[in-house]
This record gives sequence, C-alpha cells and structure tokens, in this order.
Amino acid sequence: MSQDQHRLKSLDALKTYDSGYQDIFYKRSQKDRFNKYLSRYLQGKSLGLYDELINRPDLMDSLDIKSLFILNALTYEIRLEEKNLFVVKRNEFIANSLAKKLIDIYTKIYKYVQLDEELDKRFKNIDFYTIVNLLPTVIVYYTDFILVNQLEELYPKAFEILSNRNLFDNLQEESLKPERLRLLALYHRRNKDLGKADDVMLEYREQYLPDLTKKVNLKKLPNKHTYPPSEVVNNLGVLYQEIKDIQVEVCDLTGVNEDTCFYYNCSECCHNDYPVLYYSEYKYLVQKLKEEGRDIEIYKAKARDIQSKHVEKYGYELKITNKHRPTKEDANPNDFKYSCPFLGESGGCSVHQIRPMMCRAYGLSTSDNRNVQSCNYYLKQHQYNSNYENIRYVYDVRPYVALIEASDAYQIKQDLNETKNLCGTFIAWLCSDY
Ligand code: SF4
Ligand code: SF4
Repeated sequence: MSQDQHRLKSLDALKTYDSGYQDIFYKRSQKDRFNKYLSRYLQGKSLGLYDELINRPDLMDSLDIKSLFILNALTYEIRLEEKNLFVVKRNEFIANSLAKKLIDIYTKIYKYVQLDEELDKRFKNIDFYTIVNLLPTVIVYYTDFILVNQLEELYPKAFEILSNRNLFDNLQEESLKPERLRLLALYHRRNKDLGKADDVMLEYREQYLPDLTKKVNLKKLPNKHTYPPSEVVNNLGVLYQEIKDIQVEVCDLTGVNEDTCFYYNCSECCHNDYPVLYYSEYKYLVQKLKEEGRDIEIYKAKARDIQSKHVEKYGYELKITNKHRPTKEDANPNDFKYSCPFLGESGGCSVHQIRPMMCRAYGLSTSDNRNVQSCNYYLKQHQYNSNYENIRYVYDVRPYVALIEASDAYQIKQDLNETKNLCGTFIAWLCSDY
C-alpha cells in the first residue's frame, strides 16, 4: 500500500463536524430565490414563475416558495394537482403547514402591498376554499383571515364553510377541529349577534381545553392618531375614543365581554386599585367637568376626607410625584384603601366618558409587549377563548402614554413654567391647587 493510500484511510476515519456554513448558505439561497419569485409574482409575471417551478420541482424546496407557487396558480386559475405539491407522497403535516404559510403570505400582500389594477382584481378574487381537497386546513386559516380583516362580502361564504361541521370534523389536526366554533362565534360577533356568539363560545370552551403552558402570542392592534404635544389636551377625547374603538375590536377578536366589569357586577378596581393620572389628563378632566357645568367641589370634598384619613393613619398626605411613570408604590406607598371619589352611589363611574387612560386600559392592553394587563375576570376570558396558537389580541398603551407624556412636558412648561413631571392619584390631584 502506498503512503498516500494510508493518508486517505486515516483522514476518512476522522469524525467530521458540520460547521453549519453549508446550511446557512443553503437557507440564504432559498430566501433569495423566494424573494426573486415573489418580485416576479408582484410584477404580474405569472407564467414565467409557473413554468420555471413546474419544470423544476426541486426548486420548490421551501414552504415559502411552494406556497407562492400555489398562490400564483390560484391567481391565474391554473389547476393544481396533488402531485404538484407532494413530490413523493401526500403528507398531512406538510399540507397543514402549506395552508398556513399560504394564507400568511396572502395576508401580508393583502395588507402591505399595492398591486396594479389587473393583478389586484385577480388577487382579491382568489377563492381559497376551492383547494380544500388539496389543503383541508385552509378552511381554518382563510376563514380566520376573512373575519379578522372584516371582508364582509365574503361573510356568506365563510358562514357556509363554518356550517359544514364535517369539513372540520374530518381535519387530521385535532387542535384545529374546535376552531369551527371559535370562528363561528367571531362570525356572530361580527354580525352583532352577541347572544348567539356567547352560546357558541360556551360550546367552544367545553370542547377546547387551552394549554396554559403554551407561550402566549400577543397580537397588537395599531393606534391611529398622533398629535404634536401642544395639541394633545385638546384632542384627548379623540384619543380616548380611539382607545374605546380598539377595545371593541379587541373584544370582538378575543371574545372578551365588552362590559366585563358590568357583566360580573364588579367595581373592585375603583375601590382598591387606583389609577394614576398625568397632568394633561387631570387638566382635561377638570376642563370637561366645568364645560358640563358639574361641581368639582363635591369631588374635592370627598378627596379631602380620604386624604385626612390617610394623614391620620400614616402621618403624611398622598402626594403628586415628580416621577416619570410612577408606580403604585410611588403614588400610594402604603397601598391605602379607599373608594375613588368619582365612584357613584350605584357603583358606576360618574366620569365614565372622561375617565383617565389607566382606568380604560385594564384587561385589553399591554404595556410591555409580553403581558395583558388584567384582573382575573379578563385573564380567564383571554385564556379560555384563545385559539390553538394561544393568540391574544391586545392594544399597546405605550403610544398613548408617550403622547400624554410629551403633552405633559409642554403643558407644565406653558402653565407653570416648570420642567418637572407631575403624576398622582385622584386624591393627590383633587387635594392640590392644580
Ligand atoms: S377590571 Fe376586573 S377587577 Fe376591575 S372592576 Fe373590572 S372586572 Fe372588576
Ligand atoms: S375614575 Fe371611574 S373608572 Fe376610574 S377609578 Fe374612578 S370610578 Fe373607577
């Protein structure tokens, strides 16, 4: 045996380690190819894309590319066959992943891309229900797309599918079967038939046990309005209304009862968990009370009464803090319990329309992108109404807080010629000279 042969043998015997470079390189090339095909699709170069991929199935080597191939075929009414999607043999797991990815790509294009007129018409006319035999779970994802995005003209079709129990019962993915009920409840909510929605939601909860160990997936609904700092106080009513509108949408999408506090006859927060207000919010509240001809002295008297009890117990007053985003510990360090001075005799809020943001945000919002701020009544609804992916729709209070904080910096300088932060409980504000 020659020396070279010995060398080869010894090298072969060495264990080889994959640096991962090949894999990264391959994934990048897949992504580049997908982007190339996507741009061809968006430019309406349909047949080139179809011809290339139908003749080179080896290039359909990612879910993205295969989904785009299906989308392209549906756009131009090209008939799809099972062998186009499954090279070796049918696989239900892949079929489900394809259906999900397909609607995902469709949704992104639908929401974010301006198509030219002809392509747009074709794109919007796609009926994904026609491929239910090829990709059965498309009924879940497409119906969800229709209802979430409020495509009212497609509601009858969605309802027809949702009424066909067999279609869902025959799905291979167990976790997707109860989705028929969750979506049906959303359909009824969209049609403002809350009684029916509640009944169906009850059935959903009986059939679907949420996996509470599953990661929560927060989906945030975007805010719309923005104002320069000098305009925020004058438009606080518009911002509050926007919060209200978003909350209605959050309730629709998650099945959370719009009047949860009323429904559970609860006013716990107004007795024990007090919001802090920013200067701009307090200024707006006082302004509105005056406009409505209401006597703020009544509320000030109640506040003074609570304040004196606090002094009696702790020896000092609840104060307005000079902190940026104060916590409850800053504004009410002893967690002193009292009922909000604006809480009416019958348990309702007497300033409901103009109540501050913190009273509104509970249950339906997030301020850290990870958690829903909520009491147990809200939390349980979020948990038990969530879908197989544990999605919770919420809105983000941070853009609103940022607007109010910017307004505070402006207003405090204008009104008081100062540069400090001012934030506190109702008691602190009502007992102050502001
Ligand atoms: S938010 Fe929750 S705890 Fe607070 S009043 Fe409403 S139901 Fe009760
Ligand atoms: S302002 Fe209204 S909602 Fe807010 S704590 Fe007071 S009573 Fe409750």
